[in-house]
Amino acid sequence: MIRLFYILLLCLPILSDTKFYVLGTGTPNPNPDRAGSAYLLVVNDEPYLFDFGANVIRRAAKVSKTWGGENNFDVEDIEHAFLTHMHSDHTLGLSDLIITPWVMGRESKLSLYGPPKLKQMAENIIKAYEFDINYRITGTQPQNNTGYKINFEPIFDGYVYKDKNIHVLAFKNDHGDLDESYGFVITTNDKKILISGDTAPSQNLIKYGEDLDILVHEVYSSSGFKKKEPDWKIYHKGHHTSPQELAKIAALLEPKTLVLSHVLIWGATSDEIVSDITKSYDGKVIFPDDVTLIN
Ligand SMILES: [Zn+2]
Ligand SMILES: [Zn+2]
Repeated sequence: MIRLFYILLLCLPILSDTKFYVLGTGTPNPNPDRAGSAYLLVVNDEPYLFDFGANVIRRAAKVSKTWGGENNFDVEDIEHAFLTHMHSDHTLGLSDLIITPWVMGRESKLSLYGPPKLKQMAENIIKAYEFDINYRITGTQPQNNTGYKINFEPIFDGYVYKDKNIHVLAFKNDHGDLDESYGFVITTNDKKILISGDTAPSQNLIKYGEDLDILVHEVYSSSGFKKKEPDWKIYHKGHHTSPQELAKIAALLEPKTLVLSHVLIWGATSDEIVSDITKSYDGKVIFPDDVTLIN
């Protein structure tokens, strides 16, 4: 009887198994070490993608089973992807996300969640790849005719996605004059994570950012900012967050870990970027490389 109890205990699903990876920490600048914006949440071996900048699937492959990663999933298992906003540094990997996992064997449709215009972009990409899609389906290689298709759900301020692994809340942030721009609060059994998206200081982010394990926030270099032309200063001030502003936000929210990503580096070093924040904030701050597991 006791033995049976232990066997049953071993069979129970692991309830606390959230892994959060920063896959792409880059910006529109084609820094060869920093791919386009992308984050991967793995819960009970199921992958969820947030943003899909350039190089997204190769970055995700690096933590997958087939390519020597520590997870029990492969890129063809990526079936859910959320988008913060339509800027190209966050969407350049959409064709990769639609096509590559399908070529690798994804049979389910890809579920996309994002601003309304994302639907049209995805449909146009499928149209643009019509030749290759038809070639693969009708050619001699075995290929399913479903996994390149999409389901689309538009997000809005307060939109909620929920399944057995995660709860995702989308909130509008303040990305200058781009109205359809969002951050995400992701809650699992053991983690609460907020991804700021691209934003200037956002009241909504403060509203939803209590009790965070991980706050991923964008920021720009203060030394680089000083060298910008006046019109670029106006642009960046309205669309993005300064280190001083981020230090204040972090001091207010006190996340366990503040992760800097989508950093406009402008020639500064990683240490300078971090010390820009830690001058006036004494919590844990990291500026990770691409493909980093955040604990
Ligand atoms: Zn943007
Ligand atoms: Zn961006």
